[in-house]
Amino acid sequence: MKIKNILFGSIGLALLASCSSPKSEESNMEPIDTVAQGEFQYQTEQFADLKIIRYQIPDFDKLTAQQKELVYYLYKASLSGRDIIWDQNYKHNLVIRRALEGIVSSYAGDKSSKDWQSFMVYTKRVWFSNGIHHHYSMTKLKPEFSVEYFNQLLSESNTELAPEIVSIMFDDKTDMKRVNLDPAKDLIAGSANNFYEDGITTKEVEDYYSRIIDRNDSEPISYGLNSTLRRDKNGKLMEDTWKVGGKYSRSIEEIVKWLSKAKTVAESDEQKRGFELLIHYYETGSLTAWDDYNIQWVRTTNDVVDYINGFIEVYGDALGYRATYESIVQIKDFEASERMKVLQDNVQWFEDNSSILPEHKKEKVVGVTYKVVNVAVEAGDASPSTPIGVNLPNANWIRAKYGSKSVSLGNIVEAYSLAGGKSMLEEFCYSTEEFERADKYGKLASKLHTALHEVVGHASGKLEPGVGTPKETLKSYANTLEEGRADLVALYFLMDNKLVDMGLMESLEVGKAEYDSYIRNGLMAQLRRIDPGAEIEEAHMRNRQLVAAWAYERGKAENVIEKKVKDGKTYFVINDYLKLKEIFGELLREIQRIKSKGDYPAGNALVEGYGVKVDQAIHKEVLERSAKLNIAPYGGFINPRLIPVIENDQIVDIKVEYPMDFSDQMLEYAKDYSFL
Ligand SMILES: [Zn+2]
Repeated sequence: MKIKNILFGSIGLALLASCSSPKSEESNMEPIDTVAQGEFQYQTEQFADLKIIRYQIPDFDKLTAQQKELVYYLYKASLSGRDIIWDQNYKHNLVIRRALEGIVSSYAGDKSSKDWQSFMVYTKRVWFSNGIHHHYSMTKLKPEFSVEYFNQLLSESNTELAPEIVSIMFDDKTDMKRVNLDPAKDLIAGSANNFYEDGITTKEVEDYYSRIIDRNDSEPISYGLNSTLRRDKNGKLMEDTWKVGGKYSRSIEEIVKWLSKAKTVAESDEQKRGFELLIHYYETGSLTAWDDYNIQWVRTTNDVVDYINGFIEVYGDALGYRATYESIVQIKDFEASERMKVLQDNVQWFEDNSSILPEHKKEKVVGVTYKVVNVAVEAGDASPSTPIGVNLPNANWIRAKYGSKSVSLGNIVEAYSLAGGKSMLEEFCYSTEEFERADKYGKLASKLHTALHEVVGHASGKLEPGVGTPKETLKSYANTLEEGRADLVALYFLMDNKLVDMGLMESLEVGKAEYDSYIRNGLMAQLRRIDPGAEIEEAHMRNRQLVAAWAYERGKAENVIEKKVKDGKTYFVINDYLKLKEIFGELLREIQRIKSKGDYPAGNALVEGYGVKVDQAIHKEVLERSAKLNIAPYGGFINPRLIPVIENDQIVDIKVEYPMDFSDQMLEYAKDYSFL
């Protein structure tokens, strides 16, 4: 499970709130050229709705030579799999990318024209989304130049691309949605991703798995996680597994090569064993081996270096079976992790004092390790748009039996906040008091929100006996409800003096800052990411509007949250924070009940009733007010470059460089990591 950046802006610090998409309270960035000499430049450019940011790896040189070598091998393993997500996202992505890169590398014509600028913006948007569908809205990107101009670029740079693929790039009807969540259309046949052969329907997929899933198996494998579902020569459905010798073999062979090197410099026997199991999984495609690896990984908690490498998140599959490739290489941030250990040690107290029904509480919450780490590199679904927190493994039975690992990506969060400013806050805060509270406590508030969401939220609550997994019972609503549930756990305890007693915050003012920010974003600010007239589709944005809108309606009679208009602008102002805490507690109890009982109709009513439809008047106002601030709603990152220092065929050190140009990095990766 991912946590995506919530809050941008120096104060707002990408508050890693809940595995969720960025709350959009960014500030307009300082103009790039004002960066003082010698100061690290975080933001490098902005185009369309995107901004490109750099991050640093603090304390890299404090690592031992062996640890540096380990990080380097994992860095190579990460990047070696990058092509896989391009093909998973859409069947024509790799050939389209190669054509775009061919033009960028060899076109010698006029590069000052408006058309060329539009072409470069399109190409960078495709690089940013690992394909031609927007990384967030999942909608096919529209080139802002003509097909004639594109064909001219192809011919003048001796680059080929099949005409039928060119026409798909430019039409507005074919393969429009990478992931279709609209039950009115067939979820699978209506999705453009490449997890299912064209023409396969939702019913066929459900029938296929209903035949092979053993419902009584309390420790089920993650069916369908690492394969493409296609027809065999007799038309029967079959899984085409991603493994050495199978689909995506060339990339996976490279990953295995570097993991084998990593094994030779592992920090511990546990870590070494983990590498052996992961390599075995990649060589066999066995999902039992994947579970064995995850059990070993979740129990390996004492090393400085850690990593994610595999087919992890199922957000890209409307039915939630197949996972996208992703990798994150992590280095432990000792000081910050110590601060958060308090939460981990008190996880049972939170469960016992939660507002959920007693029969849905876990008698014993199994250990949830929570660390703040610094990222050394990211790839696949984690880059350039990156999560800011991760909670894994995803298999519910492994989490229940062995626990899970939660991490916040400290240097990513820091870079987000330093790449932004305060104008979004100035625009959407009702009063100076609200603004000053956000300015003073916002950063800590969202860090605590993230930690509570990950450590306590996702680990809490249990299913009633005999109830299927949320994916089976709540289907396409499972992700939204799960993220809403974890957010509500965090919100419920952020207004609890227990956090003050634990020394995690100085007063409930921190909790109030988070409540302000959550309502500000959930009812207004996040709408700046939605196209006029569109509905909310992304699971995290749905969960945030659901929580904020339900709370607003529930508290109307007592004016808990008040809709105010000042200078013709709308604001939602909290009048009673403790009453709002109770309302959050009530909704938490209901969403936990829905998950524990697998109550699809109630889940459907909540999500469709509060999380999908957009208030058109508010939306129009938000788009107008934020447009004036000229802030890109989405941010993504350029990775550092690790370079080995070799003497006598031995790696004796690893140097770190911080590239400045996003396009250069994409072309470099295309040159060094194109294996499919
Ligand atoms: Zn989450």
